[in-house]
Amino acid sequence: MPELPEAQTIAQDLDGSLRGSSVARTELLFRPSLAGTMPLSELHGRAFTGAARRGKCVILRFGDLSLLASLRMTGQFVFGRSPGSGEGGPAGGKGKRSWPPHVRAALVLDGFEGPEGEDSLMFRDIRKFGRLHVCRPADEEALLPASARGRDVTELSPEEFHSRLASSGAPLKVALMDQGVMAGLGNIYATEILFEAGVSPFRPAASLSRHESDIILEAARSILDQAVRMRGSTVSNYQAPLGPGSYQELHKAYGKAGKPCPRCGTTLEKVRAAGRTTVFCPLCQK
Ligand SMILES: [Zn+2]
Repeated sequence: MPELPEAQTIAQDLDGSLRGSSVARTELLFRPSLAGTMPLSELHGRAFTGAARRGKCVILRFGDLSLLASLRMTGQFVFGRSPGSGEGGPAGGKGKRSWPPHVRAALVLDGFEGPEGEDSLMFRDIRKFGRLHVCRPADEEALLPASARGRDVTELSPEEFHSRLASSGAPLKVALMDQGVMAGLGNIYATEILFEAGVSPFRPAASLSRHESDIILEAARSILDQAVRMRGSTVSNYQAPLGPGSYQELHKAYGKAGKPCPRCGTTLEKVRAAGRTTVFCPLCQK
């Protein structure tokens, strides 16, 4: 599931690639992928005006209409060629090409051409949990899932961060991933941040001193910043429009259970709680 760095990368890719394009037509191939009452076809003829991220959501703007995308487990934006584009399709044009597998919706664009003749932005979603939503910009806030409405962990002041943790009744790692407490973190980055900060994921969030919460916030800022610069972590099926990320190469704890701690050499342990796996160093995360 994309977290802050992956959603940020997707929004940046789209913002840079789609400038100057407009929507020629739309296709909705799986009806439940579109939420709300406004049809995707409302976007016909509209010029792309920018992309942004809120929490883990991506927002595409077309003047006075917005397309909100909640990618959930496997939602992706990828460029592709619409059926019927080009010279009648591959292999001598026998038979009509269709959209690739798992494409749930697509925007066929004017004024956009990818390096291999792509003319469309496709929303591909294997597990089908992702949702698109066409709305007025004024309604964005109310329509964003709760997971995108909170402020980013990186936007909180040290005082706010400490007080949000202090008022949480949850263990620290659960509190960091609670999008109602702060937005943007999931299992990958919460695991990495707590490893970097040297704090146990199982501590009650309310037990942290201001000094400790400052260290965690500092680790969050530096890790998320570096992860955005490396286009996110390519684990599971994450894919951004202009290619994958490489931050997974710098993971120190996530996915490393049974391996030696890069700081002290102790074997990293794994605990499964509430359906999520937490990896940590039993010696240097206090
Ligand atoms: Zn260690």
